[in-house]
Amino acid sequence: MIRKLLRKVFRRAADAPAAEPALIPVARHGIRRGQVSPAARKVCKVLQESGHKAYVVGGAVRDLLIGHPPKDYDVATSATPEEVRALFRRSRIIGRRFKIVHVMSGPETIEVSTFRASQDADSAETDEHGRVLRDNVFGTMAEDATRRDFTVNALYYDPETETIVDYHHGVADVQQKTLRMIGDPRTRYREDPVRMLRAVRLGAKLGLVIDPAARKPIREMALLLENVPAARLFDEMLKLLFSGYAVGCLKQLREEGLHHGLLPLLDVILEQPLGERFVWLSLENTDERVRADKPVSPGFLFATLLWHEVLANWEARKAEGEHTQPALFSAMDEVLDAQAGKLAITRRIVGDIKDIWALQPRFDRRSGKTPYRLIEQPRFRAGWDFLRLRALSGEIPMELPDWWDRFAHAGPDEREALLNAAPAGSEAPAKKRRRRRRKPAGAGAAETADAS
Ligand code: ATP
Ligand code: MG
Repeated sequence: MIRKLLRKVFRRAADAPAAEPALIPVARHGIRRGQVSPAARKVCKVLQESGHKAYVVGGAVRDLLIGHPPKDYDVATSATPEEVRALFRRSRIIGRRFKIVHVMSGPETIEVSTFRASQDADSAETDEHGRVLRDNVFGTMAEDATRRDFTVNALYYDPETETIVDYHHGVADVQQKTLRMIGDPRTRYREDPVRMLRAVRLGAKLGLVIDPAARKPIREMALLLENVPAARLFDEMLKLLFSGYAVGCLKQLREEGLHHGLLPLLDVILEQPLGERFVWLSLENTDERVRADKPVSPGFLFATLLWHEVLANWEARKAEGEHTQPALFSAMDEVLDAQAGKLAITRRIVGDIKDIWALQPRFDRRSGKTPYRLIEQPRFRAGWDFLRLRALSGEIPMELPDWWDRFAHAGPDEREALLNAAPAGSEAPAKKRRRRRRKPAGAGAAETADAS
């Protein structure tokens, strides 16, 4: 009790925001209002003209300072959600526990939140490990800054004056390439263990070094991640895998001791006994696509992460005499069922994964009408990308994806020539396969059931 009180008193003293925040002029930070999205600028302007405080805040300011294009924009304001809602025709209030407002402007959606009080683990409702369960009290701007996780995430940019309001020396930390926790790192990790994953992700993505005080406790506190709801962890994993820096993030996670036995998905990736090369190739490929602004799909990535488990299961079934296609579908189901409880993969993603896997054996059949039908499949491209990764990892000869690429782009005569020149497939005759074919559940049923 006394320790708790002392901790509270000392923490308060240590973390109390500087009474007066630093006001950093554009000459020192360099962000011009023209770099900020028009929608975010407009939201700030409308709110300010109605007498409220309003700033671009969080990741967008941080990214602009570092020179990364921001993914999206958040605005923090003194206006209540209802006041915000009333000012913007195209807006809606979301969230039950803590209301925020989505303001739509052109193609953009700006997330507008009212300044929130920092509820520390001593005063807020927590679980038995100190994880904060409720965080729903409006507060002052200074409190809003203090409840944020890292100093570089607590910067407020005013597009009107082009000034940054900086309560925790975040601009200096960006300039020194340091990711520093606001407050006592242990306490902040206890309040929300996901901050450990955020530290690793933001550090890797932005090239910031995690301050030793924030880095050191991670290894010993990693177990706290077990108490975080699976859906929240899954969301955070998606952010990490699609950050454009998945390879760096995952290597860093391994270094921080955050990979073992905590997140099943991480075990799949980092403890991969099978197909390690395939998994890393796929992650590199995802990083390249994200950075080139090309579309990426979780289904494709998860299909690669779990492929070698399917492959092992499938081979075992075939060795026991099961036919190719039904053996594959059983293997797929078994591997996905084993992951289902742990991973919280959504049903739609499961459908995408199955589509991609189910196409794989069909690439072995290079005679008759089958190839013509296959290249018309809506998922042909994803299936082919997957096939090519398999070849790049050495699982199958590169000749196979090369052949399909040529076939897909060839004219009628060349296609016939390619069919005649193709090596005979290793597949069992189609008739046998038909007897036990089974439709997989999900979106791909129509295309995958076509076993001819
Ligand atoms: P990115 O969008 O690049 O993933 P971000 O920092 O913007 O990174 P968001 O999840 O969009 O992450 O959060 C927006 C802001 O909310 C953060 O910059 C930070 O100020 C605050 N925030 C987010 N998650 C937490 C957390 N777990 N604890 C404290 N503050 C947080
Ligand atoms: Mg963000």
